[in-house]
Amino acid sequence: LNAVFSGRPQSIFPTMSALAREHDAINLGQGFPDEDGPKAIRELAAHLTVEGPNQYAPVGGVPELREAVAYDNKRFYGLDIDPLTQTLIVSGATEGLAAAFMGFLSPGDEAVLLAPFYECYAPQIEAAGAAIRFVDLEPPEWRLNADALEAAVTKKTKLIVINTPHNPLGKVMTLGELEIVADVASRHDLIVVCDEVYEHLIFDGAKHIPLMTLPGMFERTIRIGSAGKTFSLTGFRIGYVTGPEDLITGVLKCHQHLAYTSPMPYQSAVACGLRMGDDYYAAFVADMQAKRDLMSAGLKRTGFKVLPCDGTYFITVDINSVGRDDDVAFCEEITEHAKVAAVPISAFYHSSQEDAPRNFARFCFCKKPDVLEEACDRLRTYF
Ligand code: PMP
Ligand code: GLN
Repeated sequence: LNAVFSGRPQSIFPTMSALAREHDAINLGQGFPDEDGPKAIRELAAHLTVEGPNQYAPVGGVPELREAVAYDNKRFYGLDIDPLTQTLIVSGATEGLAAAFMGFLSPGDEAVLLAPFYECYAPQIEAAGAAIRFVDLEPPEWRLNADALEAAVTKKTKLIVINTPHNPLGKVMTLGELEIVADVASRHDLIVVCDEVYEHLIFDGAKHIPLMTLPGMFERTIRIGSAGKTFSLTGFRIGYVTGPEDLITGVLKCHQHLAYTSPMPYQSAVACGLRMGDDYYAAFVADMQAKRDLMSAGLKRTGFKVLPCDGTYFITVDINSVGRDDDVAFCEEITEHAKVAAVPISAFYHSSQEDAPRNFARFCFCKKPDVLEEACDRLRTYF
């Protein structure tokens, strides 16, 4: 086995889901909605699957989805995107990230990650042969420090990865933080891979700002979105990449040998989804914000110190507030005994980061309100 994989435990998500099943716990660990997204998209996918064709899609994606991605970028961010040269359809954001890293990183190169970070980044980057430099975000605000980012950049640095809204922290990067990234990337001539899969899950009326919209940044940015998140259809495995032609070409060169294409009927169905009216997005974010509020209040009543959550469907607690100091042990304990599963934030750090915080746990709240209420009741009874 490649040492990148032999040296790593199984992904935390299936691990915690299996433990939740074993103990009949409510699974607020792995992040996935308990209600599928819009029926119209699913019905269209079903119809297209029956009627076909179900053959290979074009490598870059079906034209109507690429056009819908361009439309979406114009609609929400005012970006003028050429569907044929500046978009690419991938098999989930996960594959888009892998294709971006494998496409642009060679052995000897370095990538910068802001820690904590979504789990797949590190193994994908290391499998491409590149090394990682970490910039730690400091709790409880998890703010990006300009000097720390600057210090992480070397002559070998090829790219920086950012994720906003952020999984697992629920943090939304401020314009000031995006400007720090833009400044460092421009001065050092770096690519920025932007994981924006939660772009439509920002609360309290705030709006998502793609780094790509900052002055001079379009030419060096690879922006990644996911129908899994935007339409609560994580099983469709449809993601989309936007960027300047030279970067999209690089990602595509890898994608054609990695996934080759993405499922044909789902692509066309998602194209339709991206044309849905504003009411869909408004209802989606309002629903998730209500769930955040419910979860936040429930956790606070249990005695947890709850960290701010400005986006995504994840909320973080400080487990010191209930007298615990080991996040892995805590997540196992509550899964087994309180019958509610969560994931430890230390799983979102690299194993080499020995001083990673061990006192935070993440709960996923994209579940029906009665499920969230039951989970909070169980935690309150237990603690
Ligand atoms: N990035 C982040 C930050 C995520 O949370 C996820 C999904 N949990 C992904 C990427 C992967 O998305 P997809 O399911 O489209 O591969
Ligand atoms: N992204 C989801 C999470 O953070 C899970 C994705 C997965 O299972 N790979 O929980």
